[in-house]
Amino acid sequence: MIELFVKETLFIPDDYQKTIYDINYDQLAASGIKTILMDLDNTIIPYDESHASSQIMTLFKSVLAKGLVIIIISNNHGQRVKGFAEEVGCPFVQRAKKPLSYGFIKAVKLGDTTNPAQICVIGDQLMTDIWGSKRLGYRGILVNAIKRNTEKWFTRLNRRLEQKILLIIQKKHPEIYNKLHLVEKR
Ligand SMILES: [Mg+2]
Repeated sequence: MIELFVKETLFIPDDYQKTIYDINYDQLAASGIKTILMDLDNTIIPYDESHASSQIMTLFKSVLAKGLVIIIISNNHGQRVKGFAEEVGCPFVQRAKKPLSYGFIKAVKLGDTTNPAQICVIGDQLMTDIWGSKRLGYRGILVNAIKRNTEKWFTRLNRRLEQKILLIIQKKHPEIYNKLHLVEKR
């Protein structure tokens, strides 16, 4: 069993859902969330797609209509991120360097609030999206990666660490692990 240099609790998401379509956005808004920082690659679209489908457009319209702000936050860069954000009509931060705080803070400034209790990160990676959000005191929702086989080498490395962290969470916090159904992430 590996030992972590940081507390494993910083990797525990507040919620886990299979996809971004399974998240209850009404509940998020009702619980005080105002800004959603949403990862792009393998959270909204897989690496081999770059456009917003009608299903994505419908979801974004409905979430924005609830008064929630969505900001795209991606470690990726270029036309892929910019073009997608323009399609869905949301601000974005590229080269975010997640899990470092830099990109999250930059993204939050594009929204209406800097209160950590009103900010929620949605992403498919424990090592970038969730770790980064929990360190800043944001809420973090983990989703499954849409398509794993197109991931690059550094994401694959993150996945190996992710599996080890999930095992640690299972061992040290079985009640949370079971409640969030995290076994389905492995
Ligand atoms: Mg991702």
